[in-house]
Amino acid sequence: MLIFVSNWVRVYTADNPPEAVFIRGLLEAEGIPVRLKSMELWAAAVEIYFAEGARPSVWVPERARWEAERVLAQRDRSGTGTVWTCRCGERLDGQFTVCWRCGAARPADD
Ligand SMILES: [Zn+2]
Repeated sequence: MLIFVSNWVRVYTADNPPEAVFIRGLLEAEGIPVRLKSMELWAAAVEIYFAEGARPSVWVPERARWEAERVLAQRDRSGTGTVWTCRCGERLDGQFTVCWRCGAARPADD
């Protein structure tokens, strides 16, 4: 069981571990410390995850909360709705920054 210091706050609850890792990457890119909770349940046993109904959550220090929420808000605005096409021809949802087919990074569009 993970112990969190009292001033960490949850800013995001993911549907699955890859999404949680993705969010962590977004926040860490902004210099925000991040902790993920409930990931260990997935690592241990998926059935536990389902049994307990826990979803991986993303936590940041309280002092970084507003910055984190700003980053997440930007993601919501520019993210999931924007489909992009990789150089290999694969079409990907906006939430993906790397092509799952060939591994190429998403072209910068901002
Ligand atoms: Zn590709």
